[in-house]
Amino acid sequence: MRLIFIGPPGAGKGTQCLRLTELFGVPHLSTGDMLREAVQDQTKIGRLAQDHMTRGKLVPDPVIIDLIFERLDRDDCDPGYLLDGFPRTVSQAESLDDYVRGVGKPLDCVIELQVDEDKLVTRVLGRGREDDKEEVIRQRLVAYREQTQSVAEYYQQQGILERIDGNATPEEVFDRIKAALDQ
Ligand code: ADP
Repeated sequence: MRLIFIGPPGAGKGTQCLRLTELFGVPHLSTGDMLREAVQDQTKIGRLAQDHMTRGKLVPDPVIIDLIFERLDRDDCDPGYLLDGFPRTVSQAESLDDYVRGVGKPLDCVIELQVDEDKLVTRVLGRGREDDKEEVIRQRLVAYREQTQSVAEYYQQQGILERIDGNATPEEVFDRIKAALDQ
């Protein structure tokens, strides 16, 4: 199962991704987590990403593309994967298309979790990550609206997008996702 999970900060991606990876037995690839680890370890990628992240801006495409394709090449991705936080721009989505075409393993489904914007900021503020300050969250929401929403449209045109209403309890949202994937 090769899945992509799209949703604004605070939509509950992490929670749902955890459940989905257990259900399908595929690795959960969160580019946010991978970047935070790179920053922590002060790798070259980490140093390139750090400043963008603390400002709530997207990391430049070439940086993230190097990081993710190296990860997708590992053996544990043979049965599939769940991508969380990638692709976030149409250009990233196009690179991913080239990649999956190249290896002959197409994407199965893209899930977009939709949550009312007024709920998002409150949810994220309760979390307390370093980039979870109100002004940075607002900037991340802007980046989502301006750069990532078009990724959902890109996949809608391919006919593999499932939009899920995420304004519900985690259990209800998970049931909705499973129902959409069952189709
Ligand atoms: P959230 O979805 O809550 O904003 P993430 O953990 O997915 O948080 O991402 C945190 C930060 O990492 C983003 O604000 C951005 O700076 C960077 N990032 C993660 N994935 C990408 C990506 N695919 N392209 C560019 N930047 C990314």
